Amino acid sequence: PCVSICAGAGCVASGADEVIAAFEKEIEAKGLSATVSTKGTGCPGFCEQGPVVVIYPEEICYLQVQAKDVPEIVAQTIENKQVVERLCFKDPATGERAVKESDIPFYRSQQRTVLCNNIKIDSKRIEDYLALGGYAALAKALGQMTDLEVLEEVKKSNIRGRGGAGFPAGRKWEGSRNAKEPIKYVIVNADEGDPGAFMDRALLEGNPHSILEGLILGGYAVGAHEGYFYVRQEYPLAVKNIHLAIQQAEHYGLLGENILGSGFDFKVIVHQGAGAFVCGESTALMTSLEGKAGEPRPKYVRSNVKGLWERPSVLNNVETWANIPLIIDKGADWFTSVGTDSSKGTKIFSLVGKITNTGLVEVPMGMTLREIIYDIGGGIPNNKKFKAVQTGGPSGGCIPEHLLDLQVGFDELTKAGSMMGSGGMIVMDEDTCMVDVARYFIAFLTDESCGKCVPCREGLRQMHRILTNITKGKGKQGDIELLEELAETAVEASLCALGKSAPNPFLSTLKYFREEYEAHINDKK
Ligand code: SF4
Repeated sequence: PCVSICAGAGCVASGADEVIAAFEKEIEAKGLSATVSTKGTGCPGFCEQGPVVVIYPEEICYLQVQAKDVPEIVAQTIENKQVVERLCFKDPATGERAVKESDIPFYRSQQRTVLCNNIKIDSKRIEDYLALGGYAALAKALGQMTDLEVLEEVKKSNIRGRGGAGFPAGRKWEGSRNAKEPIKYVIVNADEGDPGAFMDRALLEGNPHSILEGLILGGYAVGAHEGYFYVRQEYPLAVKNIHLAIQQAEHYGLLGENILGSGFDFKVIVHQGAGAFVCGESTALMTSLEGKAGEPRPKYVRSNVKGLWERPSVLNNVETWANIPLIIDKGADWFTSVGTDSSKGTKIFSLVGKITNTGLVEVPMGMTLREIIYDIGGGIPNNKKFKAVQTGGPSGGCIPEHLLDLQVGFDELTKAGSMMGSGGMIVMDEDTCMVDVARYFIAFLTDESCGKCVPCREGLRQMHRILTNITKGKGKQGDIELLEELAETAVEASLCALGKSAPNPFLSTLKYFREEYEAHINDKK
């Protein structure tokens, strides 16, 4: 048997390190070390119920495990094949019990292709990744495919970038590949900064080799020999695990010169960002990588043609890169068999807010918001009514109850006045003031504006001032119109995507909850 204990940041905060130590001690004390292994793994997503422990091969899943529970688990489950009932999932509504991870409603409707290995891998051991087929895609690409064939496969998969804009990754890669400049770069955008979002963190901490493998494949396809991880320094475990993954890949000949005897050379450099949200924007990130202040620049020429040090640079986010080995290994047809016409594959969301089951979920594109929130998320706690869900990060939008049957997909969410963003999903109940929600997100973006252009820097500041007044009962007639004017100016005239999308929380809440704005202003409360 193998005991897998989530050692992601969420479970560590709930005592996972003590649980791992207790298992090691107990297994040693009982003389079981020769037959039972213990490993700290990546995050399986059910952060609400951490620390999560899964015992293989039976896949028995225990939740909220503490060090004091360990002797009972070892005695009952490992030695006597009995289930410790009190640590199993019990549905709060039906009382239904689930022993296996796959029987828990939170996991049952998910389709975990990118996240699935997190709970099976000790992210500090490349051998765990290799044992599950890791680097098979790289071996296939370098051994059996030309660089152009790798690019064509990614284009055929129609994978759209998981970081925000949803631009087709293959077309972005093709632009870099076809650019005349011979020196090119591939970059991982690991600067996840959305409040309430931790999709990339879970992959960086839990399965760093999957991202690294995707990056090497990207380098091969576009003709780049240098790759970068731009990772926020607030993710220390992620930074540590990436460094370790790079060292191990070098040791196995999967990075460096003449990879797997193919003649392809590739090296990777890790750069830690200093926590500026705007550095998630492509040009700001590349400017920061060059050692300058991370401010966006005009995109007269796209960064895949003229990016880092004015050279062709492919920037994709963590989740996009982690999908690439799967596409190369299993094929584009496998990838396109899941999803909607315009949004293929699965998407990871961080499901947070007023929701029973908080955590990371991976679902096929096209699943409805209702299914995600109720079937997987378990609905709204304390018998409250659902009011809205905010998708797309701080510059996303709020989607009301009558659109709960909306399918999640890049275009569907944009049409509803929100966006996919990188996958934040914040659920709000009937007690939430939607004007205050808009005020909160505008406050965040006001702080994070780099200040380079006036519509964003001053416009957001004024929007925040007016929204604060409205929520304090000091709103005036004409405030809504003034907010609309400021929002329109920011959308039209801001330099980068941060400013252009910043008014979304206001615009979407006004569109669907205008009566709340009017009530604040008219009733002075
Ligand atoms: Fe900076 Fe905002 Fe202008 Fe972007 S839109 S360049 S964040 S001031």
